[in-house]
Amino acid sequence: MDIIEIIIAKKDGKVLTKEQIHFFIKGLIDKTIEDYQVSALLMAITINGMNSEETAYLTEEMRVSGDVWDLSDIPGLKIDKHSTGGVGDKVSLILGPLVASCGAKMAKISGRGLGHTGGTLDKMESIPGMRINLTKEEFKKQVREIGVAIIGQDKHIDPADKRLYELRDVTGTVQSIPLIASSIMSKKLASGADCILLDVKCGKGAFMKNYEDAKKLAIEMVNIGKQLNKNVKAEITDMNQPLGKAVGNNLEIKEVIETLKGNGPEDLKEICLSSGAILLTQAELFKTTEDARKALEENIKNGKAFEKFKEFVKAQGGDLEYIDHPEKFPVSKHLIEIKSENEGYIKTIDALAIGLGSCHLGGGRMKITDTIDMSAGIVLNKKVGDLVKKGELLCTLHTNKDNVEKIIEQVKKAFIFQDEPIKENELFKSGLIE
Ligand code: URA
Repeated sequence: MDIIEIIIAKKDGKVLTKEQIHFFIKGLIDKTIEDYQVSALLMAITINGMNSEETAYLTEEMRVSGDVWDLSDIPGLKIDKHSTGGVGDKVSLILGPLVASCGAKMAKISGRGLGHTGGTLDKMESIPGMRINLTKEEFKKQVREIGVAIIGQDKHIDPADKRLYELRDVTGTVQSIPLIASSIMSKKLASGADCILLDVKCGKGAFMKNYEDAKKLAIEMVNIGKQLNKNVKAEITDMNQPLGKAVGNNLEIKEVIETLKGNGPEDLKEICLSSGAILLTQAELFKTTEDARKALEENIKNGKAFEKFKEFVKAQGGDLEYIDHPEKFPVSKHLIEIKSENEGYIKTIDALAIGLGSCHLGGGRMKITDTIDMSAGIVLNKKVGDLVKKGELLCTLHTNKDNVEKIIEQVKKAFIFQDEPIKENELFKSGLIE
């Protein structure tokens, strides 16, 4: 067997065998297959796809390409949650402490933001002192004792994904359902959780632009989980507008704090409660999502969720002064208010434009080596469905950069209006695949 025949087979639209996929991942890890050959195969897969069996074989080979963590000595079912990436998506930082306050054990491996999407690890690092690189032992101890730990991917877990992702990022091969499904699921399955809830973002600001593709990706990932006897469910949720109101690292942490205190934006609160309810039933702590939801709501009201967040921040070295006094977070030099030039109901807020705008203001990185300005970003004052009068505040840009006229123009264009109120059936309907 050689890699050239495997590349040609996929280029010709053939189904790869288990042995061919094993040969590919083995060669990727021991570097007997060159980057340009890996890239050629990735492009062939992106163009011609993979069936469910091939995707499952690829996932399994990637999963065992490095360490596989065993969390079975931590009592109870361990849960994990993963979003395919969005704008303003700070759900994990709310959900982790929230479900832990109800007795769950959230053992979560997170990623950094890239391109227009934000990353949980970057948001965490905007809290001074917060550590994202615990050892496996520290991670397990924290999950056991506090019920929630969130860390970056250990370099020994799934090295195949690391190399594949780096190459996909620079060869236009990120946008492929089998490659995204195997990338996400191999990492999740290697890090040892028993139950996984996937949040497949759908819309302009997501990898999956339409519902059909989002559903295909969700089904593919749930099927992979089933084949490995894991309890995997997938929600399909809206990314046609940013989630919540804050986009940008410390701006989002302030929104996390507000939401855990019960004062968050409606869409953010809703997704945390609905995802949390599903997770608590997956973890077999509640029989019905209705009962689980009540417990989550109760723990926001009685302050237990916020207290759990503080325990989590403290355990990972974060300075609680900032959590108790969020006004201490650095604020950007320029706060630029964008006022509406139109009147009407907001039909959409282009999440891609807002995500890119936030990055260009300093809040994100376009290359993995860029440094982030933790105070930069965009805070929305209006959301889809709101009635807006001329001159009303749409959003505020936070930046330390001068000369951001172009970004201001792009952000203005992100708001699309219509004369009529938005009808119920025009709103995005979340779905659940199980
Ligand atoms: N997130 C991942 O971890 N991998 C992908 O391919 C896309 C999103």
